[in-house]
Amino acid sequence: MAGGVYVVAGPGTLLHGAPTEGSHPAPIDELRSAISSKDGTVLVPGIDPIKDLANFNARIKVVPQVLVECKTPLGVSQTILWAKKFGIPIRGRSGGHSINDSLFVHGLGLSAGTCPRVGIAGLTLGGGHGLSSRKFGLTADNLLSLTMVDASGNNIQASDTANPDLLWASKGGGGGNFGVVTEFEFQVHAVGNVQIFYLSWPPAKAAQVLASWQKFAPFAPNELTCHLAIDSGRDGIIGVHCGGQLLPETAGTTPTRAELTRMLGPLTSIRPKAFTIHARTFLGAAIHFYGDDKPQIFFKAKSDYADQLLADDAIAGIIRQFSGQHWPHGSITSRGHRVSSSNKYTLLRTVLYGVGERCRYTPDVETNEKSVRVRTSLFFRIRLC
Ligand SMILES: Cc1cc2nc3c(=O)[nH]c(=O)nc-3n(C[C@H](O)[C@H](O)[C@H](O)COP(=O)(O)OP(=O)(O)OC[C@H]3O[C@@H](n4cnc5c(N)ncnc54)[C@H](O)[C@@H]3O)c2cc1C
Repeated sequence: MAGGVYVVAGPGTLLHGAPTEGSHPAPIDELRSAISSKDGTVLVPGIDPIKDLANFNARIKVVPQVLVECKTPLGVSQTILWAKKFGIPIRGRSGGHSINDSLFVHGLGLSAGTCPRVGIAGLTLGGGHGLSSRKFGLTADNLLSLTMVDASGNNIQASDTANPDLLWASKGGGGGNFGVVTEFEFQVHAVGNVQIFYLSWPPAKAAQVLASWQKFAPFAPNELTCHLAIDSGRDGIIGVHCGGQLLPETAGTTPTRAELTRMLGPLTSIRPKAFTIHARTFLGAAIHFYGDDKPQIFFKAKSDYADQLLADDAIAGIIRQFSGQHWPHGSITSRGHRVSSSNKYTLLRTVLYGVGERCRYTPDVETNEKSVRVRTSLFFRIRLC
């Protein structure tokens, strides 16, 4: 249980102290007596100092009534039994997934997501894809076994030989559904150096870039991951960018700049206004793509997967939708994510690429509502294509 597991309890309190609808006070004294200090620490928001209590997404304003920083599986079990006894809803939470920092020291890496704030548990149990997923699979594909505390407070293991159905269900369908995971065992990979790249075009090229990108990125070698982002702001489309990385075909070798330049030919032929390539270590590239770890942002995001190419009129419709809207900030991003794995657990074998849309929030409620409506209609437009 390196790093510990939090179990958060109580239907919640709004950040400024008001209880949420239907909440009733959690019996915290009973919780304190149920857990010994070697198994966990009980933390009460507003009384105890708690790191990172505010949600990363400032749109979510609810905090739990109490957190238990569990140090052992027994601490998790005691918390679950307390919650059952008093009918208190609980959730597991477990830290960031900057696990690659420790692995890279040994020349190893895990296929993980691109945001350091996302917890390894939620990422794995929900699937988990990032810049090396085309080659190494989703984070869930690399899950070999796990240990969890179930709703009765018992420790259970899941692997190919013990409870294999639970292991299967935890690879994408398990976020908080079957128990609180206290241990994961992953397949890790030998990693070294990569090449990373960035391309951008003027807004007028958006349709042409989207059309070429979708014929190229999903079919490129699995070593190459290429995200496309189309950003729109108050004046319609404000940016068209591609970024990504090339992993070596064989561990221990470094892909060359010339190799990457040749691969990106279908995109560079559209005459980008910026095109850069840099060599990085696997970890250096991951940190580059994390970007700044902002303490909090306002946003709403939704994503989907596509298993067919968009027709020309669908591309035109999407671009029209982006161009005609005056919203604070929105983007469509995609990961060029063809999952082609013989792993029997892979649910996404037929996926050509993933599509995500985001809109940033402002402190102005009306603007936010408009921006969410625009994002939702874009989502359905992409679905209907
Ligand atoms: C800014 C941002 C960037 C993202 N980037 C990526 C990305 O690059 N790739 C990607 O695949 N996804 C990405 N996601 C989606 C992310 O993987 C999911 O939202 C994931 O569920 C978050 O997991 P968490 O543990 O951080 O969140 P939480 O909300 O804490 O947990 C998610 C669910 O898992 C449960 N859970 C947490 N810990 C445990 C545990 N120990 N045992 C059992 N259940 C547990 C929780 O109860 C909850 O139901 C991103 C999300 C955000 C907000």
